[in-house]
Amino acid sequence: MERPTVPPDYDYLKKEIHRLGKFPFAFTGSIGCSVCNRQIFSFSVGAVKERVLFAGAFHGMEWITTLILLRFANRLCQALQDNTKIAGEDPAPLLKKRGLCIIPCVNPDGVAIQLNCPEKRWQANARGVDINHNFNAGWCELRQLEIESGITGPGPTRYGGPCPESEPETAAMTQLCRQNCFCQALAFHSQGEVIFYDFGKNTPPCSLEMAQILADASGYQVSAPEGLAVGGGFKDWFIDCLRRPAFTIEVGLGENPLPIEQFEPIYQQLEPMLMRALRL
Ligand SMILES: [Zn+2]
Repeated sequence: MERPTVPPDYDYLKKEIHRLGKFPFAFTGSIGCSVCNRQIFSFSVGAVKERVLFAGAFHGMEWITTLILLRFANRLCQALQDNTKIAGEDPAPLLKKRGLCIIPCVNPDGVAIQLNCPEKRWQANARGVDINHNFNAGWCELRQLEIESGITGPGPTRYGGPCPESEPETAAMTQLCRQNCFCQALAFHSQGEVIFYDFGKNTPPCSLEMAQILADASGYQVSAPEGLAVGGGFKDWFIDCLRRPAFTIEVGLGENPLPIEQFEPIYQQLEPMLMRALRL
Protein backbone atom coordinates (compact mmCIF):
# COMPACT_ATOMS: atom_id res chain seq x y z
CA MET A 1 0.00 0.00 0.00
CA GLU A 2 1.45 3.31 -1.09
CA ARG A 3 1.37 6.30 1.18
CA PRO A 4 -2.17 7.69 0.73
CA THR A 5 -2.29 11.25 -0.59
CA VAL A 6 -6.05 11.60 -0.96
CA PRO A 7 -9.01 10.53 1.23
CA PRO A 8 -10.30 6.99 0.65
CA ASP A 9 -13.28 7.25 -1.70
CA TYR A 10 -15.34 4.15 -2.51
CA ASP A 11 -13.26 3.20 -5.58
CA TYR A 12 -10.07 3.39 -3.55
CA LEU A 13 -11.63 1.23 -0.82
CA LYS A 14 -12.80 -1.34 -3.36
CA LYS A 15 -9.38 -1.47 -4.99
CA GLU A 16 -7.56 -1.90 -1.68
CA ILE A 17 -9.93 -4.69 -0.57
CA HIS A 18 -9.43 -6.43 -3.90
CA ARG A 19 -5.66 -6.17 -3.51
CA LEU A 20 -5.75 -7.52 0.06
CA GLY A 21 -7.87 -10.44 -1.13
CA LYS A 22 -5.02 -11.64 -3.33
CA PHE A 23 -2.93 -12.67 -0.34
CA PRO A 24 -3.54 -16.42 -0.10
CA PHE A 25 -4.15 -16.40 3.65
CA ALA A 26 -6.56 -13.42 3.65
CA PHE A 27 -10.34 -13.44 3.14
CA THR A 28 -12.24 -10.44 1.87
CA GLY A 29 -15.95 -10.03 1.42
CA SER A 30 -18.95 -7.92 2.30
CA ILE A 31 -21.13 -7.99 5.41
CA GLY A 32 -24.00 -6.11 3.78
CA CYS A 33 -24.95 -3.01 1.85
CA SER A 34 -25.43 0.62 2.76
CA VAL A 35 -28.61 2.62 2.06
CA CYS A 36 -27.16 3.57 -1.37
CA ASN A 37 -26.12 0.00 -2.09
CA ARG A 38 -22.41 0.33 -1.43
CA GLN A 39 -20.73 -2.77 -0.01
CA ILE A 40 -19.64 -2.80 3.62
CA PHE A 41 -16.37 -4.63 3.03
CA SER A 42 -14.64 -7.03 5.39
CA PHE A 43 -11.12 -8.40 5.66
CA SER A 44 -10.19 -11.43 7.75
CA VAL A 45 -6.98 -13.21 8.56
CA GLY A 46 -5.93 -15.94 10.99
CA ALA A 47 -8.02 -18.17 13.27
CA VAL A 48 -11.80 -18.08 12.89
CA LYS A 49 -12.83 -19.81 16.12
CA GLU A 50 -11.84 -16.78 18.15
CA ARG A 51 -11.32 -13.38 16.63
CA VAL A 52 -10.83 -9.70 17.38
CA LEU A 53 -12.92 -7.13 15.51
CA PHE A 54 -11.67 -3.72 14.32
CA ALA A 55 -14.15 -1.36 12.64
CA GLY A 56 -13.79 2.20 11.33
CA ALA A 57 -15.54 5.08 9.58
CA PHE A 58 -18.86 4.88 11.41
CA HIS A 59 -18.89 8.63 10.71
CA GLY A 60 -18.48 10.37 7.35
CA MET A 61 -15.85 12.88 8.42
CA GLU A 62 -13.75 10.15 10.07
CA TRP A 63 -12.45 8.48 6.89
CA ILE A 64 -8.90 8.64 8.24
CA THR A 65 -9.81 5.57 10.33
CA THR A 66 -10.44 3.63 7.08
CA LEU A 67 -6.90 4.41 5.94
CA ILE A 68 -5.51 3.29 9.30
CA LEU A 69 -7.31 -0.07 9.15
CA LEU A 70 -6.38 -0.68 5.51
CA ARG A 71 -2.73 0.08 6.26
CA PHE A 72 -2.73 -2.29 9.23
CA ALA A 73 -4.35 -5.07 7.16
CA ASN A 74 -1.73 -4.52 4.52
CA ARG A 75 1.13 -4.51 7.02
CA LEU A 76 -0.13 -7.78 8.54
CA CYS A 77 -0.33 -9.46 5.12
CA GLN A 78 3.14 -8.29 4.15
CA ALA A 79 4.59 -9.44 7.47
CA LEU A 80 2.94 -12.87 7.16
CA GLN A 81 4.23 -13.24 3.60
CA ASP A 82 7.78 -12.09 4.39
CA ASN A 83 7.97 -13.64 7.87
CA THR A 84 8.75 -10.30 9.47
CA LYS A 85 7.70 -8.56 12.67
CA ILE A 86 5.48 -5.58 13.32
CA ALA A 87 6.24 -3.36 16.32
CA GLY A 88 8.70 -6.03 17.48
CA GLU A 89 6.14 -8.83 17.37
CA ASP A 90 5.67 -11.78 15.05
CA PRO A 91 2.03 -11.65 13.93
CA ALA A 92 1.90 -15.28 12.68
CA PRO A 93 1.62 -17.07 16.07
CA LEU A 94 -0.68 -14.35 17.41
CA LEU A 95 -3.09 -14.74 14.48
CA LYS A 96 -2.95 -18.53 14.62
CA LYS A 97 -4.34 -18.32 18.13
CA ARG A 98 -6.77 -15.49 17.56
CA GLY A 99 -7.79 -14.13 14.18
CA LEU A 100 -8.67 -10.62 13.13
CA CYS A 101 -11.69 -9.28 11.26
CA ILE A 102 -11.57 -5.71 9.96
CA ILE A 103 -14.49 -3.61 8.70
CA PRO A 104 -12.58 -0.61 7.34
CA CYS A 105 -15.65 1.46 6.44
CA VAL A 106 -18.98 0.87 8.22
CA ASN A 107 -20.57 3.97 6.65
CA PRO A 108 -19.45 4.22 2.99
CA ASP A 109 -22.36 6.52 2.02
CA GLY A 110 -21.50 8.97 4.79
CA VAL A 111 -17.88 9.09 3.66
CA ALA A 112 -19.02 9.66 0.04
CA ILE A 113 -21.34 12.53 1.07
CA GLN A 114 -18.57 14.15 3.11
CA LEU A 115 -15.99 13.81 0.31
CA ASN A 116 -18.39 15.15 -2.34
CA CYS A 117 -19.81 17.97 -0.20
CA PRO A 118 -17.27 18.88 2.50
CA GLU A 119 -19.31 21.94 3.49
CA LYS A 120 -22.04 19.65 4.86
CA ARG A 121 -19.75 18.29 7.59
CA TRP A 122 -21.55 14.92 7.25
CA GLN A 123 -21.27 12.20 9.92
CA ALA A 124 -24.54 10.27 9.37
CA ASN A 125 -25.55 7.74 6.73
CA ALA A 126 -27.42 8.63 3.51
CA ARG A 127 -30.75 8.86 5.37
CA GLY A 128 -29.35 11.32 7.90
CA VAL A 129 -29.17 8.74 10.70
CA ASP A 130 -26.04 8.69 12.84
CA ILE A 131 -25.00 5.01 12.83
CA ASN A 132 -23.27 5.41 16.17
CA HIS A 133 -26.55 6.63 17.73
CA ASN A 134 -28.58 3.83 16.14
CA PHE A 135 -27.44 0.75 18.09
CA ASN A 136 -29.78 -0.80 20.62
CA ALA A 137 -28.01 0.18 23.84
CA GLY A 138 -29.54 2.95 25.93
CA TRP A 139 -31.18 4.16 22.70
CA CYS A 140 -34.34 5.66 24.31
CA GLU A 141 -32.36 7.65 26.88
CA LEU A 142 -30.05 8.92 24.14
CA ARG A 143 -33.06 9.81 21.94
CA GLN A 144 -34.38 11.97 24.80
CA LEU A 145 -31.02 13.75 25.10
CA GLU A 146 -30.97 14.30 21.32
CA ILE A 147 -34.43 15.92 21.42
CA GLU A 148 -33.40 18.12 24.35
CA SER A 149 -30.42 19.24 22.24
CA GLY A 150 -32.72 20.14 19.33
CA ILE A 151 -31.92 17.07 17.21
CA THR A 152 -35.41 15.94 16.20
CA GLY A 153 -34.94 14.44 12.74
CA PRO A 154 -32.50 13.37 10.02
CA GLY A 155 -29.42 15.51 9.65
CA PRO A 156 -25.63 15.53 9.38
CA THR A 157 -24.96 14.24 12.89
CA ARG A 158 -26.35 12.69 16.07
CA TYR A 159 -29.88 11.73 14.99
CA GLY A 160 -30.43 8.18 16.28
CA GLY A 161 -33.08 7.15 13.74
CA PRO A 162 -36.78 6.19 14.09
CA CYS A 163 -35.90 3.08 16.13
CA PRO A 164 -32.78 1.14 17.14
CA GLU A 165 -31.10 -0.77 14.29
CA SER A 166 -33.33 0.93 11.70
CA GLU A 167 -30.35 1.35 9.36
CA PRO A 168 -28.81 -1.38 7.19
CA GLU A 169 -25.27 -0.42 8.26
CA THR A 170 -26.17 -0.90 11.95
CA ALA A 171 -27.94 -4.20 11.23
CA ALA A 172 -24.96 -5.47 9.21
CA MET A 173 -22.67 -4.90 12.21
CA THR A 174 -24.94 -6.56 14.78
CA GLN A 175 -25.53 -9.53 12.48
CA LEU A 176 -21.78 -9.92 11.93
CA CYS A 177 -21.21 -9.93 15.69
CA ARG A 178 -23.99 -12.42 16.36
CA GLN A 179 -22.69 -14.82 13.72
CA ASN A 180 -19.05 -14.73 14.83
CA CYS A 181 -17.20 -15.20 18.07
CA PHE A 182 -15.42 -11.90 18.64
CA CYS A 183 -13.68 -11.85 22.00
CA GLN A 184 -13.38 -8.06 21.84
CA ALA A 185 -14.04 -5.15 19.51
CA LEU A 186 -12.27 -1.88 18.77
CA ALA A 187 -14.32 0.88 17.11
CA PHE A 188 -12.22 3.62 15.53
CA HIS A 189 -13.35 7.24 15.44
CA SER A 190 -11.61 10.62 15.28
CA GLN A 191 -10.52 12.59 17.20
CA GLY A 192 -9.12 13.16 20.72
CA GLU A 193 -6.42 10.52 21.44
CA VAL A 194 -8.72 8.91 23.99
CA ILE A 195 -9.99 5.38 24.67
CA PHE A 196 -13.51 4.72 25.98
CA TYR A 197 -14.17 1.34 27.55
CA ASP A 198 -17.34 1.34 29.65
CA PHE A 199 -21.10 1.18 29.21
CA GLY A 200 -23.19 0.55 32.27
CA LYS A 201 -23.52 -2.55 34.39
CA ASN A 202 -22.52 -5.07 31.74
CA THR A 203 -19.03 -3.62 31.28
CA PRO A 204 -16.67 -6.59 31.87
CA PRO A 205 -14.49 -6.12 34.96
CA CYS A 206 -11.33 -6.57 32.84
CA SER A 207 -12.22 -3.70 30.46
CA LEU A 208 -10.51 -0.89 32.36
CA GLU A 209 -7.26 -2.83 32.64
CA MET A 210 -7.38 -3.68 28.93
CA ALA A 211 -8.04 -0.03 28.04
CA GLN A 212 -5.02 0.94 30.11
CA ILE A 213 -2.84 -1.53 28.20
CA LEU A 214 -4.06 -0.01 24.91
CA ALA A 215 -3.39 3.46 26.30
CA ASP A 216 0.12 2.51 27.36
CA ALA A 217 0.84 1.16 23.87
CA SER A 218 -0.36 4.33 22.13
CA GLY A 219 0.12 7.24 24.50
CA TYR A 220 -3.66 7.84 24.40
CA GLN A 221 -5.73 8.52 27.53
CA VAL A 222 -8.41 6.28 29.06
CA SER A 223 -11.63 8.24 29.51
CA ALA A 224 -15.36 8.03 30.29
CA PRO A 225 -17.83 9.57 27.80
CA GLU A 226 -20.55 12.05 28.77
CA GLY A 227 -23.86 13.40 27.46
CA LEU A 228 -24.59 12.70 23.79
CA ALA A 229 -21.54 10.42 23.61
CA VAL A 230 -23.23 7.90 25.96
CA GLY A 231 -25.34 5.12 24.47
CA GLY A 232 -26.49 4.14 21.01
CA GLY A 233 -22.95 3.39 19.90
CA PHE A 234 -21.43 0.20 18.56
CA LYS A 235 -19.13 -0.33 21.52
CA ASP A 236 -22.08 0.26 23.88
CA TRP A 237 -24.15 -2.38 22.10
CA PHE A 238 -21.25 -4.84 21.98
CA ILE A 239 -20.70 -4.49 25.74
CA ASP A 240 -24.38 -4.46 26.67
CA CYS A 241 -25.60 -7.24 24.39
CA LEU A 242 -22.59 -9.55 24.10
CA ARG A 243 -21.11 -8.71 27.53
CA ARG A 244 -17.60 -8.71 26.17
CA PRO A 245 -15.00 -5.91 26.16
CA ALA A 246 -15.30 -3.21 23.51
CA PHE A 247 -13.48 0.05 23.08
CA THR A 248 -13.92 3.29 21.19
CA ILE A 249 -10.57 4.62 20.04
CA GLU A 250 -10.60 8.32 19.11
CA VAL A 251 -7.56 8.69 16.88
CA GLY A 252 -5.51 11.85 16.35
CA LEU A 253 -5.97 15.40 17.54
CA GLY A 254 -7.49 18.40 15.79
CA GLU A 255 -10.69 19.18 13.95
CA ASN A 256 -12.61 16.64 11.84
CA PRO A 257 -11.98 15.73 9.13
CA LEU A 258 -8.37 15.35 10.17
CA PRO A 259 -6.11 16.32 7.25
CA ILE A 260 -4.52 13.56 5.20
CA GLU A 261 -1.08 14.84 6.27
CA GLN A 262 -1.95 13.58 9.76
CA PHE A 263 -2.36 10.00 8.57
CA GLU A 264 1.27 8.87 8.74
CA PRO A 265 2.08 10.15 12.25
CA ILE A 266 -1.27 8.90 13.59
CA TYR A 267 -0.70 5.46 12.08
CA GLN A 268 2.87 5.21 13.38
CA GLN A 269 1.70 6.06 16.90
CA LEU A 270 -1.18 3.55 16.72
CA GLU A 271 0.53 0.51 15.21
CA PRO A 272 1.96 -0.87 18.49
CA MET A 273 -1.53 -0.59 20.01
CA LEU A 274 -3.14 -2.41 17.08
CA MET A 275 -0.66 -5.27 17.53
CA ARG A 276 -1.17 -5.27 21.30
CA ALA A 277 -4.96 -5.48 20.81
CA LEU A 278 -4.52 -8.87 19.12
CA ARG A 279 -3.34 -10.48 22.35
CA LEU A 280 -5.28 -8.64 25.05
ZN1 LIG B 1 -17.14 9.13 15.30
